[in-house]
Amino acid sequence: MTARLSPETEEALRARIAYFRDLGVYDFYRRESKSNESSIATATDTEVVTNATESVTETTEIVSETVTYSGNPAFAPVFDPETAEEMPAVRVRTQARATALKAISDDIGDCTRCALHKGRHTIVFGDGDPDARLMFVGEGPGADEDAQGLPFVGRAGQLLNNMIAAMGLNRGQVYIANIVKCRPPQNRVPEPVEANTCAPFLFRQIDAIRPEVIIALGSTAATYLLGGRSPLAALRGRIHQARGSKLIVTYHPAYLLRDPRQKKEAWADLQLAMSELGLKAPSK
Ligand code: URA
Repeated sequence: MTARLSPETEEALRARIAYFRDLGVYDFYRRESKSNESSIATATDTEVVTNATESVTETTEIVSETVTYSGNPAFAPVFDPETAEEMPAVRVRTQARATALKAISDDIGDCTRCALHKGRHTIVFGDGDPDARLMFVGEGPGADEDAQGLPFVGRAGQLLNNMIAAMGLNRGQVYIANIVKCRPPQNRVPEPVEANTCAPFLFRQIDAIRPEVIIALGSTAATYLLGGRSPLAALRGRIHQARGSKLIVTYHPAYLLRDPRQKKEAWADLQLAMSELGLKAPSK
């Protein structure tokens, strides 16, 4: 017989299913529990329920110990079902992303994978909302960022803050990271071996956050996000793809500080991103 669930349990189950979908798990399997009640798990049991939401009304228990998943291992389920049942889907998703970011940071550890570690004070991992729809990627930390452990906090960072505000957003609503996480000596462009060693961690951050739009700030960010070098002029003004996100290329804020005449062009790039995100500029 089919047991009906309370609205709260049904809502919690929907949240749980949304959480698994976010992890890339789509197929759910039903099995009989010991108490003869229906249960749901992504295990190797017999019956595949292709439309998981249909099974919601038949489900009385979530069996999380039996979960297996084929998604990004950084998204390992971390929630006790009792706790998860009380969480709205969006909170479950935010926590999963924050946990994935923490796992990436832990993997980086006290990194010595490339020569840049020799001159750095702090690893600049990245900063912002794990749920951000918009991500900015720069080149690498400068002196201020190396001292504070946060991206874009120096003069270029002030300009980036203004660019973000012009889009009607604030720093807490976006995510900001760099191609390399350690400061290159004299702020030189990272060597390919340094960028190629570090960029996989950035790629994992992108995979965890899954922003709708990434804005590459300058040529180094564009090169490593697109997997090849082209002149910035040839890359601006159109939508590229990078790791499942739309990628828009614009000038690096440090370049705009040197040549403010290009700010108008950069604003056009930001407006392209805003139109992809359905954002309107705030009225003055
Ligand atoms: N320039 C960058 O590319 N990244 C920072 O974090 C700061 C300056």
